[in-house]
Amino acid sequence: MPDVTSQLRELFARLPQEIPVHVFVDRSRSPESARLADEFIAAVTAITPKITFHLHDGLDAAARRWNVDRTPTILFAPERYSIRYLGLPLGEESRTFIEAALLVGARADGLSQQSRTILQRIPGPKKVRVFVSITCPYCPGQALHAIRAAIAAPQRISAEIIDIQWNQDLAERYGAFSVPQTYADDAHIGMGAQAEELFFASLEAGEPQTIFIPENDAEEIRADLVIVGGGPAGLTAGIYAARSGLRAAIVERGPLGGQVAATPVVENYPGVSRIPGKNLVEIMVAHALEYVPLFPHEEVMAIEPGEEFTVRTSRRRFLCRAVLLATGARYRRLDVPGENRLAGRGVSYCSTCDGPLYQGKRAVVVGGGNTALTEALHLHHIGVDVTVIHRRETFRAQEHLTRALERENIPVRWNRVVSEILGDHTVTAVRLQDVHTGSTEDLATDAVFIAVGYDPETTLAQRLGLRLDANGFIAHDGSQRTSLPGVYVAGDVAGGFRQIVTATGAGAAAALTIAHDLMARH
Ligand code: NAP
Repeated sequence: MPDVTSQLRELFARLPQEIPVHVFVDRSRSPESARLADEFIAAVTAITPKITFHLHDGLDAAARRWNVDRTPTILFAPERYSIRYLGLPLGEESRTFIEAALLVGARADGLSQQSRTILQRIPGPKKVRVFVSITCPYCPGQALHAIRAAIAAPQRISAEIIDIQWNQDLAERYGAFSVPQTYADDAHIGMGAQAEELFFASLEAGEPQTIFIPENDAEEIRADLVIVGGGPAGLTAGIYAARSGLRAAIVERGPLGGQVAATPVVENYPGVSRIPGKNLVEIMVAHALEYVPLFPHEEVMAIEPGEEFTVRTSRRRFLCRAVLLATGARYRRLDVPGENRLAGRGVSYCSTCDGPLYQGKRAVVVGGGNTALTEALHLHHIGVDVTVIHRRETFRAQEHLTRALERENIPVRWNRVVSEILGDHTVTAVRLQDVHTGSTEDLATDAVFIAVGYDPETTLAQRLGLRLDANGFIAHDGSQRTSLPGVYVAGDVAGGFRQIVTATGAGAAAALTIAHDLMARH
């Protein structure tokens, strides 16, 4: 059997390109690192002449040209790529060096098609930093994701692999106390080693992603059931449909998870006593993915009934035997002056998303339901000075939340509505009107979180001519069948208690009804 050295020799011999590698050391200030670099270069040169080393002592003109400001630093083909290694790639990290050299020599990135598709969407420039150590066996894999990205998109992506032992100051600055840790333009995008596609999904999102949803470019997909909406109802229906033997697909126009994804914390989903909504969504999505393909960020434009249904989306068409509408609800607006103009400049509908911007500042939450109180408590807990504005003198929210609000001494302005949101560039105050006397006063604030309920998303249902109930929700027969055969409904768009647990229950019931009905058709 050939040994590792001769295998490497052969691999490098086959490469079409030379691999210029520049190594910067400082012999006078760090003779030990210079000696290690000499040994490293000698060892690699003994394996292959394809790597042409350029050894620089001190920060010379080349260092200035390529912005090298510390030693030891290694640059791979700097005329072509922006790939640098801060430290010396010894121990486990020798794998990073060898594989990076092979990729540079082949001018190939070795990425999967899925990763490449995501990378194409990422606007540049992005600087990816991966913190590693020479004793970490998982680090080379993560470092190579960054290096592959820099090879695939040299104009947009630069990769910097940072050995924490040689660069403790950088590790401290970034808080990278375990490796690998990955940052893009200083935003943390990965803790630990990630699968390649997850690395790219995280790079695109600018934050760590835990689930990768494969993309599908088929123009036409046949299924038994198309589920419109990827919240708790739709995801549960997908699981139940697949387990009943149906080929299902879930199409969601936004990110998966519906309202739960924006809920600060969920405390009433049985089996999980307290969990951020986003994490609960991740668990549900990962579970659903075991059974059913998901098509997020794809909007259903039209549903055409017929022998079979044609569901036209923004990307393709689905042909199916049944459709489940789990389209949820959209947050309600106040419709007062200033709301539109200052949206995103202090006016917000999501405390989980925007709350951290107002730490140490003032905010008001408008509403007296479960959402308003959950959001007020969340803002209070993250250090926002919050006041609740409610149009009556009792809350609609559950007792448990009302008591928590009292316990935390969160002030409430009762019997007041917001008649205007004030501010030139950003919110500075809200105008409150007393519902009994009509008198007004201005309350200074930096943010307005609006939580006055949700309206059902019935656009598709109305186009299909489905019967709605007196409150505008999609009517059904108690087993989730709508007024049009083959079309079913579940979740908040059907009204009812509008809890996560009732939505999942209705999703399961809908899938079981659909399986029953489709079987009966044969
Ligand atoms: P909601 O229960 O409909 O409450 C809306 C609140 O906004 C009410 O207090 C309402 O006042 C007020 N409001 C409505 N329009 C207003 C306006 N134009 N100006 C001022 N105030 C206005 O809505 P939600 O709190 O978003 O909850 C929606 C559904 O999700 C509910 O079924 C809720 O139970 C559920 N949910 C449950 C949880 C949980 O269980 N932990 C958490 C979040 C949501 P009035 O009271 O005077 O009508």
